Amino acid sequence: MFITFEGIEGSGKSTQIRLLADTLRAGGATVLLTREPGGCPVADRIRAVLLDAENRAMVAMTELMLYAAARAQHLAEVVRPALAAGAIVLCDRFSDATRAYQAFGRGLPRETVEQLNQLACDGLAPDLTLLLDCDTATGLERARSRIEAAGSGPREERFELEALSFHQRVREGYLRLAAEEPERFAVVPAEGAPAEIAVAVAAIVTGRLQR
Ligand code: C5P
Repeated sequence: MFITFEGIEGSGKSTQIRLLADTLRAGGATVLLTREPGGCPVADRIRAVLLDAENRAMVAMTELMLYAAARAQHLAEVVRPALAAGAIVLCDRFSDATRAYQAFGRGLPRETVEQLNQLACDGLAPDLTLLLDCDTATGLERARSRIEAAGSGPREERFELEALSFHQRVREGYLRLAAEEPERFAVVPAEGAPAEIAVAVAAIVTGRLQR
């Protein structure tokens, strides 16, 4: 079972994916928790290039291709072997992030993004995608408090470069994707307390595992 988590910056997906992994492991499941971009040494190096605010000259097409390259490596090295061994794979961002950020956010043609996704994924699609949906202002406020508390690294600097309208396009893009594939997506309202959201997430996943 391949489950992906998606959402805008500050939607809480990284917290929720960890809580879900704990719940599933407590129930005896073998769980692999991973993330994109990254998840293995080659893809982590690509992540560092992608999220380095110094690389301001990077054009959207380069970005798209680097995400695809990182994904191809991560799938081959980490995700496919874990699925083949029978694990539940939980992945923080996947191909929908590329649709939401590079097509809806950056404005690359959707068709181009689909082509790259197809090449990178080679037929693998998530069984279930949890979209943690929250208001853009709420998400950005959470992300800013996190930066204030933990300090700013390259990833945070990169995030600060983007305008509010960019994050709004990404959020709307995610909601469009969820409407296009209602069977695969579950949209989880993500403005409440983390513990309440975790209960909702666990209920959705448990329901899907029992099908
Ligand atoms: O998942 P995480 O929040 O760590 O992602 C890091 C950043 O990478 C995001 O804030 C987003 O700006 C960026 N990103 C992107 N395109 C993707 C995936 C992530 O621009 N396809």
